[in-house]
Amino acid sequence: MSAPASNEIAAIAATIGRDIAGPAAADVDKNARFPIEAITALREANLMSALVPVDEGGSGASLVEVGEAVFGLSQHCASTAMIFAMHHIQVACLVRHERTAELQKLQDQLVAEQLLFGSATTEKGIGGDVRSSTCAVERDGDTFTLVKDAPVISYGEYADVIFATARRTPDSPPSDQSFVACLKSGLTLESTSTWDTLGFRGTCSPGFVLSATGPTSLIFEDSYSDISAQTMLPTAHTLWAHVWLGIATSATNKAREFVRGAARRAPGTTPPGAIRLADLMSHLQQFQETANGAARRFDELADDRTAVSAARFAIMMNGVKISASTLVIEIVSKALLIVGIAGYRDGGKFGLGLQLRDSYGGALMVNNDRIALNTAQMLLVTKG
Ligand SMILES: Cc1cc2nc3c(=O)[nH]c(=O)nc-3n(C[C@H](O)[C@H](O)[C@H](O)COP(=O)(O)OP(=O)(O)OC[C@H]3O[C@@H](n4cnc5c(N)ncnc54)[C@H](O)[C@@H]3O)c2cc1C
Repeated sequence: MSAPASNEIAAIAATIGRDIAGPAAADVDKNARFPIEAITALREANLMSALVPVDEGGSGASLVEVGEAVFGLSQHCASTAMIFAMHHIQVACLVRHERTAELQKLQDQLVAEQLLFGSATTEKGIGGDVRSSTCAVERDGDTFTLVKDAPVISYGEYADVIFATARRTPDSPPSDQSFVACLKSGLTLESTSTWDTLGFRGTCSPGFVLSATGPTSLIFEDSYSDISAQTMLPTAHTLWAHVWLGIATSATNKAREFVRGAARRAPGTTPPGAIRLADLMSHLQQFQETANGAARRFDELADDRTAVSAARFAIMMNGVKISASTLVIEIVSKALLIVGIAGYRDGGKFGLGLQLRDSYGGALMVNNDRIALNTAQMLLVTKG
């Protein structure tokens, strides 16, 4: 099957969300298991290479289009959507940065085999400071080795490739980082913790000591500092925002259905929840504008490396992450107030437990306090 047209991917993802990810979501959450059926369907639909240009075998999708696909999945299973989003963040790095022959081969393999990409950017002792590493890449001739104590690697056991950050050499300072594609064939993951969490349980994200080896041509030529500023940070904040938007939309839809049911039961009256629903809708609209606007802005500036590297762009994208991860909690909490006890009860068509638990993950995945501090530092030194 060939790659779908870029304007088809959102509809395909929405169908997979509705027919496959949604029906499995409760079981995925209950058992903290990998959503294998949805990820298999996304692979079979050739959606894993959506961001690869058309003339290189992919769909040539924009970030707006991938964001819509993530959103379509997230309304049914946020863990599936988060896995799909995290995968595409790594694909964006591969597609947009200087490629060695080996990395080009990896991109071709992604297109042909619909590989799943994961990431190890955080590190024990460093926490969420992704622009700093303790571990280092060691080179011996044309071969590298890397050992990283990673507190969280989402779907590490299921990924075909894990993209990891590390100091460029054992003598480099913590911020002089390289970005390395660690292929499954040269990878060992030694489990160090479990993943029994409040939300995003299906991402299966325990800690591992990652040991990797391979040809040095799997190390990106661009520095991680450029990859992070130009691609990883803006695509992560944008696609994560679409995951959270899907959670907020699913909660709002339940609240809306609940209020409409109450209105039908008492014709001629306005249920008390209706005013709250109107307020909720305005927050959701604001959220949609934030997430979609971030994707549009990235697409507009994507080829202008100076503009996407500028502090003002990073400040804007940091704002997107903080607003989106805060709005999702607010919206789901407001929806719960509208729905009441039927939302508090686990399961059932109005149950909001899963949305509420998932909504709290956003502010922690790279802690909002860290992001706010980073923005504050840039504001102090940026003119205009
Ligand atoms: C669902 C999910 C999936 C994830 N998947 C992955 C993955 O696949 N790969 C990956 O690498 N990571 C992943 N992460 C991210 C990762 O788990 C965390 O960002 C990271 O482990 C940091 O954890 P921490 O809370 O201990 O962080 P810290 O960032 O250390 O934060 C802990 C506390 O310290 C405070 N703090 C510490 N230092 C500062 C500072 N300088 N400025 C401000 N506040 C500070 C914070 O406010 C916070 O209260 C995922 C996270 C989630 C929620």
